[in-house]
Amino acid sequence: MTQRLYLQRDELDAQSTVISCAPTDDGTYHVMLSATLFHPQGGGQPSDVGTIGEANVIRVTQDGEQVIHVCDRAVPVGEAHLQVLPAPRLLHARLHSAGHLIGYIGETLGWRAVKGHHWPGEARVVFEGGEALQPMTPDVIERLVNEQVAGDLPRHTTLEGSLRKIGFGPQPAYPCGGTHVTSSGVVGKVTISKVKEKKGQVSVHYALAEQ
Ligand SMILES: [Zn+2]
Repeated sequence: MTQRLYLQRDELDAQSTVISCAPTDDGTYHVMLSATLFHPQGGGQPSDVGTIGEANVIRVTQDGEQVIHVCDRAVPVGEAHLQVLPAPRLLHARLHSAGHLIGYIGETLGWRAVKGHHWPGEARVVFEGGEALQPMTPDVIERLVNEQVAGDLPRHTTLEGSLRKIGFGPQPAYPCGGTHVTSSGVVGKVTISKVKEKKGQVSVHYALAEQ
């Protein structure tokens, strides 16, 4: 299995060991590492990109316990330098962390967050009805989420075995394997673009200010 360093560390570069590098039919190479800083696609987030040695990491996927780094060229087995590209990592972490804040706000209004999709341009959190529902309107959610951002709530992480939980400030921590900003202020201004109801589910769509 690949050791997932990104679960406990925010660093974007490190030394690791290339265990294998296999050519594929589409001309890319699948690289396995002993330990990785690259967050694979999943949990509603796109993957990190960057470099392993001289090779560009185009995308990262997971296959069971293994993390597969899809590279544009071969890398030799042995020690290698990993570099995660900072700008996409930060954008994905901001979008994903905003999802936590919106999920928490929905829950304070009596809703239950059931799904999150945090890709640029299509980010949303999906809720189902709970008890004592209060209406979710774009204005209300936008005001409440930007209060959470302005409060610059520090991220806290707990590890229970391999289960990692993430929360911001006094908010409850949720099991999550994604990448997060270190405090809610880093998310920046959040715009709620629309709130859509369909088949008993409410989707809250959001976007972030350019940085
Ligand atoms: Zn998360």
